[in-house]
Amino acid sequence: MTHRETQAVHAGREDFAELGVHAPPLDLSTTYPIPDLAEGVASFRDLVDGQAEAANSIYARMHNPTVARFERALAAMEACSDAVAFASGMAAITACLLAAHEHGDHVLAIRPLYGTHDHMLDSGLTGLPVRWTTPDTLAADITATTALVIIETPANPTLDMVDIAAVAATVGDVPVLVDSTFATPVLQQPARLGATLVLHSATKFLGGHGDVIAGVVACNDSWAVSLRKIRTATGGLLHPLAAYLLHRGLTTLPLRVEQAQANAVELARWLHEHAAVSRVFFPGYDTVTNPHLVDTQMRGPGALISFELAGGHAAAAALMQHVQVATAAVSLGSVDTLIQHPAGLSHSMLDADTMAETGITPGLIRLSVGIEHVDDLWADLEQTLSAGAHAG
Ligand SMILES: *Cc1c(COP(=O)(O)O)cnc(C)c1O
Repeated sequence: MTHRETQAVHAGREDFAELGVHAPPLDLSTTYPIPDLAEGVASFRDLVDGQAEAANSIYARMHNPTVARFERALAAMEACSDAVAFASGMAAITACLLAAHEHGDHVLAIRPLYGTHDHMLDSGLTGLPVRWTTPDTLAADITATTALVIIETPANPTLDMVDIAAVAATVGDVPVLVDSTFATPVLQQPARLGATLVLHSATKFLGGHGDVIAGVVACNDSWAVSLRKIRTATGGLLHPLAAYLLHRGLTTLPLRVEQAQANAVELARWLHEHAAVSRVFFPGYDTVTNPHLVDTQMRGPGALISFELAGGHAAAAALMQHVQVATAAVSLGSVDTLIQHPAGLSHSMLDADTMAETGITPGLIRLSVGIEHVDDLWADLEQTLSAGAHAG
């Protein structure tokens, strides 16, 4: 099972033959019968100690077989030995920061990051202060007590890319967290490039149908133990129904990502040529950092496009209001196209300076391209863009 299309369909289903089932069983138990006390005691201890499984699942905050299958599938797709799933992407990030306390006393992070992630680091909520750095200053900023280095690539919403292998080489033994939500394991496998923790908001492409909030971290066995201990203690659990939907969603992930990406390539080109659009940000374009990484680190640009409207905030508001095929909404990675305004919505919690430095202007729109027919998507955007261009 070396190809991701095959893994997407078969991974995490190793026990099906033994169970005699064709679809994953959805196990909603909160507690599990303990027929043998000695075995129950040993299992309880194993799960509290962060083991991936035990003879008895004991209690659903410690282990759930439906969730565990999704974790095994995602780990295989990320070329990692394990993965740990959480109630949301932010719960997954929180667990990583709590686990990082074992490794040092501060984190180094490169902007831009997802708005709430940036805000959480800045607020110091998890007790691990952040020092903001850049790829150029990273080497000088590393100290013996750096607990974790955090990057997001491609980044939200600028689509800037960070060279994962270069970061990993620079930081040596310091663990590196890569938020790979925009890329999915279809387009990028950060662990192969030296990342320690590969983070996804599974709410986005992994779920893919706009009906699950979830997060997952792919990593090695020892980090998985730390993350499971924290999950058991803090209770940031993925619900088994959500895990079921995610596991099912993974089967079509490669198809969905390829189709959405093909649409995005066309739309980015047409947006770039349109008079109402002043700049298009898309992996591979010279408006983003490290455009070459689209062909080396990634297997394509993905399905997120940001673009700046010449008409500024008013034009952005008009576009959001008038689209009919696309949905004006935050979030991304769904089968349907979503359009949103980072300055007013997803990144509104950033202070004005950070927003300006990050390139989040009032006329910036972020488009998460879906799998509709590209001609319908363009007709939808084009009519409003052209009306605006003629008016102004
Ligand atoms: C959505 C998102 C998150 C947060 O995930 P939730 O599932 O909303 O908690 C983190 N990083 C990126 C890049 C995201 O898009």
